[in-house]
Amino acid sequence: MRGLDRTWCVAAAVFITLLVFGQTGNALSAEKVVLRLNWYHQFQFAGYYAAKEKGFYAEEDLDVDILEHDPAESPIDSILRGNADFGVSDTNLILHRLRGEPVVVLAAIFQHSPLVLLTRAEDNIHDPEDLRGKRVMRQRNVNDAAITALFQQEGIVDSDIIHLPQNFRDDALLDGKTDAVAAYQTIHPFYYENRDVSLRILNPLNYGIDFYGDMLFTSAAMMRDRPNIAQRFRRASIRGWKYALENPAKVIDWLIKQYDTRNSRDHLQFEARITRRMILPKLIEVGHMNRERFNEIAAIYRTQQPEIADATLTGIDYRDHLIPPRKIPDWARWVTGVAAGLALLSLGLLLIARNLRRRVAERTSELRDARDVLQRQLDIIDRHVIMSRADANGIITYASDAFAKISKYPKEELIGQTHALFSHPDTPREIYRELRNASLAGKSWSGEFMSQAKDGSAYWVDITVEPDFDSDGNYAGFTSLRYDISDKKHIEVLSETDRLTGLPNRLKLDETFEHEIARAKRYGHPLSVIIFDIDHFKQVNDSHGHQKGDEVLVGLSWLIQAHIRSADILGRWGGEEFMIVCPETNLEGAGVFAEHLRDAVATHDFAEIGHLAASFGVTEMRPDDSEDDMIHRADAALYRAKQDGRNRVALEAVA
Ligand code: GH3
Ligand code: MG
Ligand code: MG
Repeated sequence: MRGLDRTWCVAAAVFITLLVFGQTGNALSAEKVVLRLNWYHQFQFAGYYAAKEKGFYAEEDLDVDILEHDPAESPIDSILRGNADFGVSDTNLILHRLRGEPVVVLAAIFQHSPLVLLTRAEDNIHDPEDLRGKRVMRQRNVNDAAITALFQQEGIVDSDIIHLPQNFRDDALLDGKTDAVAAYQTIHPFYYENRDVSLRILNPLNYGIDFYGDMLFTSAAMMRDRPNIAQRFRRASIRGWKYALENPAKVIDWLIKQYDTRNSRDHLQFEARITRRMILPKLIEVGHMNRERFNEIAAIYRTQQPEIADATLTGIDYRDHLIPPRKIPDWARWVTGVAAGLALLSLGLLLIARNLRRRVAERTSELRDARDVLQRQLDIIDRHVIMSRADANGIITYASDAFAKISKYPKEELIGQTHALFSHPDTPREIYRELRNASLAGKSWSGEFMSQAKDGSAYWVDITVEPDFDSDGNYAGFTSLRYDISDKKHIEVLSETDRLTGLPNRLKLDETFEHEIARAKRYGHPLSVIIFDIDHFKQVNDSHGHQKGDEVLVGLSWLIQAHIRSADILGRWGGEEFMIVCPETNLEGAGVFAEHLRDAVATHDFAEIGHLAASFGVTEMRPDDSEDDMIHRADAALYRAKQDGRNRVALEAVA
């Protein structure tokens, strides 16, 4: 999974890198390109030499070969055949484009065409009109289109002039064979000026025929396949031209020393001066192309050549090739866009997924730690907290180790049982009932009771039972928490028990007595109390020793215990005095009971001692009685029994 992610990640990154940097990726290695000139080395191409010599091409990672004019192949043919990458040509380019040839202009270097008609000043030819009947030497083809346009515009028809073929000689006007010659004003006037021949120049520009001069161009194929190189070449060339126009002497030096120019320094200087006028670097940005002018020039060509009357110029401007919709079909742009979007999206998702994975890992680790802590706590609870859970039917579904330990049942024996398993015979049934009812009613319940372990031994617990509910809020059982209070209970019992006889001591008697008085009053039931004291017990101690006296006290307590009812509570009131609280018993009943006990004592044969007797005082509770009131009356009755001769029962004395 991780490996797959990484593959996707790398693929997306490569894809995006190609998208973003693909256009400049080629710049890493110098590109060899060829520039084909439309004449021999001269100042006409100054900008290109400057770009090469000053390293502007190198800075664009271009290695440029500047080749002179080849008489066998025009620059346009050279570029369209793939023999060169860039070329210099004039407005011919517009005509070729109109003919459907895929030439693309990168920059218009000469804002105006240098092609003019030269005449000798002495011939007084001021206007095209003055050429009627005169000889004109020119090519009469596309290369002289501006001259043709000039004649057309000025209403000069073919038959108005005598046409002579162009001989390209510098001295055409000298030998008297022609009255006018088409020539480059940047080059040819130099010869005549050198010979002190004054010229008059007929410039189509002055008649509104404003053609571009030299233009830098390339092919549509270059724009399609290597538009980046074309732009870099254009940029460096224009930079070169700016430099050349500022530093013509430098360029002239290069032309002479490195380019083997045929022209003299003077000639080159002349050319440089005129060339500036053609390029107009101060007024117009070097290389500037005006589409409107292209269209105007095209219009002139169309009038000259009917077969291209409907032809379009679209694509002649290199900028047309840089606009994406022309290069890439809509569907391809969509596909590219969607692919790029998907790549970005998947990269984004990958980053999000990685981030999420990290956070999940962190959270998982935190949760694991938290779970470990919780597990440790549960282990501690399991070991030390007596806990159990039961379902809605009271069946135990969970029991902690501590519960298993105190109940002495193995855990597995506890599961599936009910809590009735632990009920102790001495624990009142009502407690269990109370507990169950509270739980079923959704209430919690707490209390103390004695439970029975598997081996029959008793243990005391303080228990809290909490009801459980399912997700729908229905009663689902209960969870019980117990504390082992056996030790506490043991101490409690010790503190309430007389150590000699094992009977409730005075503390416990007080508590029980008070409780019984409250209960009897609450239910309106009768309640009586009996206090009895052994007669002449002092003599027992005196005659048989204190130890023997203790034994008698223990024996007597057993004897009485054996005769009382289960509801009666016998306790040691102090010394050799005892008390019996008799619930549900009136004075008469208590009197009969006391008499029965008196008889039991009097007839009992105490080992080594023989017969003993005891005196009894009895009283019944009155509506407003306190514990003290009753004890006081029972004491008084006992006192009377002693007074009356002992070994007798006295009923409550009237206060
Ligand atoms: P009478 O009640 O009949 O008036 O005479 P008596 O001899 O029993 O007198 P009294 O009740 O005043 O004396 C109580 C004696 O009981 C005093 C004491 O030595 C004895 N006695 C009290 N508690 C204990 C005890 O825990 N062990 C023993 N051996 N003797 C006790
Ligand atoms: Mg006494
Ligand atoms: Mg006594």
